[in-house]
Amino acid sequence: MGRWQCCGREFESEEDLVRHDVEAHGAAREAVGSCCGVKFYTRQGLEDHMRSAHGKTAPPEDPW
Ligand SMILES: [Zn+2]
Ligand SMILES: [Zn+2]
Repeated sequence: MGRWQCCGREFESEEDLVRHDVEAHGAAREAVGSCCGVKFYTRQGLEDHMRSAHGKTAPPEDPW
């Protein structure tokens, strides 16, 4: 059971999800943010990272 979902499909890693985004949704989405040197292309991915790596929820607007 994958954590990453889009279009009713599941992906094993965010990398796969991002690849799907690029291929299926017209690519070059701007990253919604970055943290720890990693760019995130979905807010969900960023929030998941913030939660699992830093124990907090990303604020809705603050750039960090
Ligand atoms: Zn999709
Ligand atoms: Zn981080």
